[in-house]
Amino acid sequence: MVDYIGIQDIQRIVNQRGPAAFIEGLAAEIEADYRRFNQFDKSARHAIHSPVGVIELMPTSDGRMYSFKYVNGHPKNTDAGLLTVTAFGVLADVDTGYPLLLSELTITTALRTAAMSALAARWMARPDSRTMALIGNGAQSEFQAIAFHAMVGIRELRLFDIDAGASNKLARNLKAMKLDGLKVIICASAAQAVANADIVTTATADKRNATILSPEMIKPGMHINAVGGDCPGKTELHPDILLRVDAHIVVEYEPQSRIEGEIQQLPADFEVTEFADVLNGTTAGRATAEVVTIFDSVGFALEDYSALCYLHKLQLADEAGKRRQIDLIPQLADPKDLFGLLAPCSATFVTKNPQNAELQRRPVSVMA
Ligand code: NAD
Repeated sequence: MVDYIGIQDIQRIVNQRGPAAFIEGLAAEIEADYRRFNQFDKSARHAIHSPVGVIELMPTSDGRMYSFKYVNGHPKNTDAGLLTVTAFGVLADVDTGYPLLLSELTITTALRTAAMSALAARWMARPDSRTMALIGNGAQSEFQAIAFHAMVGIRELRLFDIDAGASNKLARNLKAMKLDGLKVIICASAAQAVANADIVTTATADKRNATILSPEMIKPGMHINAVGGDCPGKTELHPDILLRVDAHIVVEYEPQSRIEGEIQQLPADFEVTEFADVLNGTTAGRATAEVVTIFDSVGFALEDYSALCYLHKLQLADEAGKRRQIDLIPQLADPKDLFGLLAPCSATFVTKNPQNAELQRRPVSVMA
């Protein structure tokens, strides 16, 4: 049997702790895994593109556990009442190759992306940052807001979306959460949202080289958390922001970010820092208060590995005993008798053909 976390399970697991506490716990797990970055088998994710979206596979392993995520990105989906991003994933035991957990990762992706964004901001934003512009107020946005409120100390959020309904939805959801001391302002433009912000998060969805942020919006000392540019030909920042002499760009895994991140707009040898090097002290996340720091986020497999391990630990510790399992993998008395599961004598195979009578006397394969 394989452990299973579906939508009702993730709702219970997150709500038992509260989204902020869940995100903080997950951020700690992600940080611990980035601190041992060298132990992971890493590759840029495998992407298959269509004119309207992308479907990606994201595998990694630390030699003990293996994980992969299936994830899509289809910005026009919301017009048809569908999510832009959906995902699921598997955690497996390297020694046997057996899957241990099959989990939903749609909600978990939003949680882990927010955890990663806030974790990076802790190392890169000015410590006195209290105001954040949040541009793109769709599915990811509440998670980003909660993470930055809890982990970074953001107390003023300035929202902008080309869809006013999305900003209203975000403001309504945040109001219902009554986050301690949080002021939410809906702005009329991206420029208005960014004005006087310490941190700018962009989480828009559009399959093109968009200009959500232009150079004149950016002030010394800002931290930019660029979440929505995560595919070839799908970016949010004007390249001159990246080329500022005072800019410090941090990425998750350089080979993947060169293909998918904002830095796809830069020469291939343009210097960037990997987040693991910030954690291990090789490079400061922020050298001075005036530097413009840019976290060029695309989402890396290690973060999903961390999320799957974290979820599995919480599921196994679930005192309510709500752990669910599915019969994804056969359990056999004789592992060489796989066909026995299909044979007429199997408990799951029924035949009325008398010629199969002899076969039907064979031992029944065990299935839990
Ligand atoms: P979504 O479709 O639910 O929301 C996107 C929002 O952006 C929509 O409300 C849309 O109206 C708005 N928008 C589009 N163009 C805009 C513009 N020019 N100005 C302002 N707003 C604009 O999508 P989502 O699930 O919230 O994802 C947001 C983005 O984040 C997507 O591009 C997705 O691929 C990306 N993403 C990145 C990571 C990561 O790890 N970096 C993880 C998950 C999602």
